[in-house]
Amino acid sequence: MRYDEVTFRNAPVKQISTFAATPHAIADLQLFRDTDHASVAALLAACPVLLADAGDTVSDPARPRLVIVLRGALADAGEDATTRILPGESAGEQSVLDGEADASTLTALEESELLVIDAELAWRLIDESDGVARNLLRLLSFRIRAANVKLRRRQKLGEFYRQLSMNDGLTGLYNRAWLNDVLPRLTATAHATRAPLSLIMLDLDHFKQFNDRHGHLLGDQALRTASRLLASALRPTDFAVRYGGEELMVILPDTSGSIAAGVAERLCERMREAVVFGDMRLPLPHMTASFGVACLGLGQDDHDLIDAADAALYRAKAAGRDRVAVAPAAPA
Ligand code: GH3
Ligand code: MG
Ligand code: MG
Repeated sequence: MRYDEVTFRNAPVKQISTFAATPHAIADLQLFRDTDHASVAALLAACPVLLADAGDTVSDPARPRLVIVLRGALADAGEDATTRILPGESAGEQSVLDGEADASTLTALEESELLVIDAELAWRLIDESDGVARNLLRLLSFRIRAANVKLRRRQKLGEFYRQLSMNDGLTGLYNRAWLNDVLPRLTATAHATRAPLSLIMLDLDHFKQFNDRHGHLLGDQALRTASRLLASALRPTDFAVRYGGEELMVILPDTSGSIAAGVAERLCERMREAVVFGDMRLPLPHMTASFGVACLGLGQDDHDLIDAADAALYRAKAAGRDRVAVAPAAPA
């Protein structure tokens, strides 16, 4: 590589020297540590050393090159983070090795002296020096490990936000967005496998009065108690959802209407006995709920199933609350 060939994105960068003519020691360069310095020096002798001003771009997606910082500092702006490359450190190894364009952009953070090694010479160094090959492997292994840590962290964060968007903040139960996403799939699976799918809809009784009498905070507490009660009473394969306000829902895959009705009866009883507030100096707030149960029928979709459970719930309310009503069996 001649001086006048060194351009980055077609912009020439000031070339001040060759490596042989600079005072920099090979031992200070990470990539050449513990190598045969004499043979490496011979190969590097004619390599151009450039002077980049602060802000200069010193990478070129069209030409994979190894850049080693001799003085100053570079910023390596990758897809999601920027790393600093300091004297003795290098960049561009991966694109030199696989010949793929590098997505990251190298920019000088201050006036910097850089040793630029083109892909061809980089391969000669690897071929002729076991030490260089070893250092490169160590460096790449370190980078892969760091990238994996970053990836895992990002996956965890993604999972956290996904959960946040699928769960209700007050009760921790699944929310309406989750329901809209999952219930159509559950009904499709139930039809495809000819397995029963049941749904229980419940609504706390006279909850407006409960709030008026005990205050909104205790109302929230009651909602949390009811939700906990649902979650703890269900099988791991069942789902509890906050459908809206004080309306909750339980989805029971592989469960017939009669078994779901039994589950609803049990929940209704537990709700009646639930202690909302543990402070014995206060009169115990009383909480009951009404339940509507439906089982998916032939040709019904998720909306039909909800409507059927809702209609049953309405009948439970009309019949006096604190009870379970079951939707008439649709043809299965
Ligand atoms: P019904 O037995 O017919 O269901 O009577 P209700 O009073 O429960 O019915 P209504 O739908 O009129 O009132 C629902 C009440 O639920 C009103 C609202 O203030 C309360 N509510 C809904 N969401 C929350 C909540 O997040 N926290 C609290 N504390 N109250 C809520
Ligand atoms: Mg209510
Ligand atoms: Mg309601």
